[in-house]
Amino acid sequence: MPAEFDLIQRYFTRVTPDAVLGVGDDAALVRVNDRMELAISTDMLVSGTHFFAGADPFLLGHKALAVNLSDMAAMGAQPRWAMLALSLPEVNEVWLEQFSAGFFALAEAHRVSLIGGDTTRGPLNICVTIMGEVPQGKALQRAHAKVGDDIWVSGTLGDAALAVAHLQGRTQLSEAEFLACAKSLHHPMPRVALGLALRDIAHSAIDISDGLLADLGHILEHSKVGAEISLAALPLSSVMQSRFKMMRANTFARQCILSGGDDYELCFTAPQKCRAEVEKLSIPLNISLTHIGQITAGQGCIVRAENGQIVPTEKLGYVHF
Ligand code: ADP
Ligand code: MG
Repeated sequence: MPAEFDLIQRYFTRVTPDAVLGVGDDAALVRVNDRMELAISTDMLVSGTHFFAGADPFLLGHKALAVNLSDMAAMGAQPRWAMLALSLPEVNEVWLEQFSAGFFALAEAHRVSLIGGDTTRGPLNICVTIMGEVPQGKALQRAHAKVGDDIWVSGTLGDAALAVAHLQGRTQLSEAEFLACAKSLHHPMPRVALGLALRDIAHSAIDISDGLLADLGHILEHSKVGAEISLAALPLSSVMQSRFKMMRANTFARQCILSGGDDYELCFTAPQKCRAEVEKLSIPLNISLTHIGQITAGQGCIVRAENGQIVPTEKLGYVHF
């Protein structure tokens, strides 16, 4: 278990009898009345860890809310309210103007109201808490995957990681390639409508923030099941497809696809009998949905190459500590 989750488990996980769901999922769930539950989640963006110093403030405002909306999507919750805690090194009105414009553009698109927060001086740090509604018992949870379920992912995988690798000089993309990949990194579109549509179809869901293997791994751990996925089935953008070929499926490309963070797509499991129903969602939601494997009675995730061989998967996503 990565140290981050070990820390949370050891120091911050207690029995929470007054919550429907406590620490461990994409959001906590509390009961509001006989009909609704409130899904609540917090995500922080820290300068130097989650974004480079000097990052575009409009895009930062967008992303700070987007990563939180993505957790609502993963719960099948309708996002409603947000709180914003900001630590700022200085008062820079141009920066604040653009940051708030990016934040509110996405908030308005999802009809989310900013209802409070906190502002202090300090190193640049952006923390958003989001709250959303879900009908009682309908939330999508990591713990409810069933043996035999199909495993699906939305959109494409690995573009954000490829863009980061380019910025860090670990690979070189053409300008057009970089711009295409950087969209997922700087301007992720949370899959809120998909999460809502999956409430009555999927057994489990998670958003991919730390890489497919790490995040699918949480579903497997919480559901006490295993998985087998096909490397050839994983949905790739055209940039990644050409890279994947060029680099002959080398370790770097596989790392981007299997372990690259910041994709903010949904990974979910659904009964096989719902396959056509899931496929049908793709057109109205204008998003690709790809069946990548099955939930098994085993443990951990096996990734199989086209030739049937098992792909080694030592590096499993972003490790904070
Ligand atoms: P996600 O990637 O979906 O945002 P995280 O990996 O950040 O989720 O966190 C995993 C779980 O641990 C979540 O349920 C989150 O609320 C909880 N968590 C993280 N940090 C803390 C903390 N300091 N105290 C209590 N719970 C925490
Ligand atoms: Mg999440």
